[in-house]
Amino acid sequence: MASLIGDPIERELVTLHERLKHDYRGETSASIPTLEHADHRLFGLAVCTPDGYVSAAGDADVEFSVQSISKAFTYALALSDRGLESVHEHVGAEPSGEAFSAISLEEETGRPDNPMINAGALVTCALVSGADAHEKYERIHALMEACAGRSLGFDETVYEEEQGASDRNRALAHFMRSAGSLTDEVDPTMEVYLKQCSVLVSTRDLAVMGATLATGGVNPLTGDRVFSGTVARHVLTVMATCGMYDYSGEWLLTVGTPAKSGVSGGLITASPGQFGMGLFSPKLDARGNSVRAVAASQDLADRYELHALTLPGGNLPVVRESEERWPEYGAGVVAVQGDLVFASMRGVLSAIEAVLESSDRVLVLDLDRVTRVHQVGERILQGAIDRLEEHDHEVVIVDGARRGIVSGAVEVESLDEAREWCAAR
Ligand code: GLU
Repeated sequence: MASLIGDPIERELVTLHERLKHDYRGETSASIPTLEHADHRLFGLAVCTPDGYVSAAGDADVEFSVQSISKAFTYALALSDRGLESVHEHVGAEPSGEAFSAISLEEETGRPDNPMINAGALVTCALVSGADAHEKYERIHALMEACAGRSLGFDETVYEEEQGASDRNRALAHFMRSAGSLTDEVDPTMEVYLKQCSVLVSTRDLAVMGATLATGGVNPLTGDRVFSGTVARHVLTVMATCGMYDYSGEWLLTVGTPAKSGVSGGLITASPGQFGMGLFSPKLDARGNSVRAVAASQDLADRYELHALTLPGGNLPVVRESEERWPEYGAGVVAVQGDLVFASMRGVLSAIEAVLESSDRVLVLDLDRVTRVHQVGERILQGAIDRLEEHDHEVVIVDGARRGIVSGAVEVESLDEAREWCAAR
């Protein structure tokens, strides 16, 4: 960013880091020695915007094992490989409300509740395409690298320690195998799962990986499409409802963005079209979420109004000058500005309807100040215009940029030109 202005977001992250860095509440995970003895002073924050600019503070480049955050990306790969319907047959999308390692399977099918708890993640590992455990893991690793936009290391020690501490997960896998929900053998599934947990990432990587989810599957640094927009949406949805262990509901209430945390103290969160964020601090609260990462997210969510269910501001659609008439030409004018989204179409249709009801035969639709046209807006508008033309009305679209928003209508560049067209008719 230009040196004169500096980076205001980074300055806020630095201030936040300063403020929270002496919060030593919580405990490091006792699950394996590497995590238990992690340097608990470490604290990193990073935000990546959809243009690929990363602002960071603290220990944003220190690497740690990704642990459960990998679950979101393995889910993305399983969805890309098999589609939602087929994945959904084996793993649900319901918050379990229980701890991550709970043995919580649907009674009749043996299907785990969601892919963000261990049981569900074991199932998604098995659903990833690949001839054997090695190939499946390599594909998951490659996908995480594509999301981070760089090569990611692997922590051999963590992997060995995870193997030595995997009794419960192994029991879960056996249980699901007998229930029919785990489609692969237990041993290769455990290998894929424990390896994916041992991939090394930094806080900065998490921000970029989050931004890849936020931009509908395109890595903002490399410009590469990693998965489809639909897959990104599915993953963010399950993160929103199930990503924060048994704190997911309260997280959605207080922070309000899709997120996933892991026992190493990492946290990834993202908001479509807005940002990806990575946070890291090893000490965890009773539910297994990083104390300082949660506190920092809550602070930033308030400060930047990040809650995903906040009333959208900005380009709210407005119908302007809908009363204007050019009776001398038998024409009525409807001018629209803002984004043509689902919610704005009713108003646009009513304004057109008003013109229809009068004896005007010509509709002049001024779309010059329309900022964005969503597919649904385009479809509804096109339907209305087709209908008008069927009933012998003529439609003139005013659009200086000549975007061809609808077809089958006359397109002119200005209201004056539209008036001339009407006069010459
Ligand atoms: N390797 C850990 C396990 O499955 C990951 C747990 C987590 O981060 O939630 O036990």
